[in-house]
Amino acid sequence: MRRAIEGLKINCSALACLGILSGAFLGFLPGEGAQAQQIGQVRKLQRATFQSFSSGGEPLEPVGGVHLAPGLERRPGTGGQVYNPGEPSLNMALCRWEPKKMPLKIWISPGLQLPEKPFSELQKVRPDEVFEMLRQPGAPFENCGLTQAREWTEDVNYQVAAGIEQWREFEKEGLFSFGFTDDPRQAHIMVFFVDSFKDSTSPGGIMVGGNTCAQLYPYDVAQRVNIAQKPVVIEMSTLVNRSPEKMIAASCHEFGHALGIKAHSPYRDDIMHENRVVDYLSPADKATIRALYKSKPAYVM
Ligand SMILES: [Zn+2]
Repeated sequence: MRRAIEGLKINCSALACLGILSGAFLGFLPGEGAQAQQIGQVRKLQRATFQSFSSGGEPLEPVGGVHLAPGLERRPGTGGQVYNPGEPSLNMALCRWEPKKMPLKIWISPGLQLPEKPFSELQKVRPDEVFEMLRQPGAPFENCGLTQAREWTEDVNYQVAAGIEQWREFEKEGLFSFGFTDDPRQAHIMVFFVDSFKDSTSPGGIMVGGNTCAQLYPYDVAQRVNIAQKPVVIEMSTLVNRSPEKMIAASCHEFGHALGIKAHSPYRDDIMHENRVVDYLSPADKATIRALYKSKPAYVM
């Protein structure tokens, strides 16, 4: 039975979440001068307009302002509108956790860095890779040869937890619940760290600050059989998120993906924009998670 279910999993949920290199960060990486110069140039740019894009419905108007990545600004009075949380590679089908999985258990690793892989390969391997590591005898990850990410400290884990805690307010609405565990073998969601993601720099000095990988299962199948849970794997860059504020906001964003907001918001003032300008959940982020957890999903984790 296990094999049949394995065949139905859909390994398509990895989100590249961008962070902006800070000047301090550039100082730590000699040889990245070209990027530093690019950032300097970006900051001196005149106000520019960008092609707008829409996740469906009516076309949106182009917006002005200096943006490092395309992003939309809302029309006045629409700040609390839901954006589409659907999985783009599944035609925006909805995905979330089921009530029977609550409370979700989260394990934040002590700075552990998973084996380096090209960024484009992560989504294919991470949940299975971590699942297999946890099946090894002995203490979890004891003999897996994992290293610790550069500049990780215990404080970083408190920052990650603080970012995740931003979603706590929805517990009292009955949408979902979660807690932290010391035992990775109990965890639904696991947080690892990485210095910086390999092969992930895009033009303009934007680097990936976080990544979330999950395996999804069709909802109807999940009702009929017990599926061996593969953990949702979050990886946070310690170097891109070097300040506490960045790490808190980035972990809040990644946990939004882990909860099921798979797509990025097209609006830069939402925490779920891929290159967000805010550090806290916006009214639209809140409206979106409510809508998601009140809908019937096509897929579950
Ligand atoms: Zn993201």
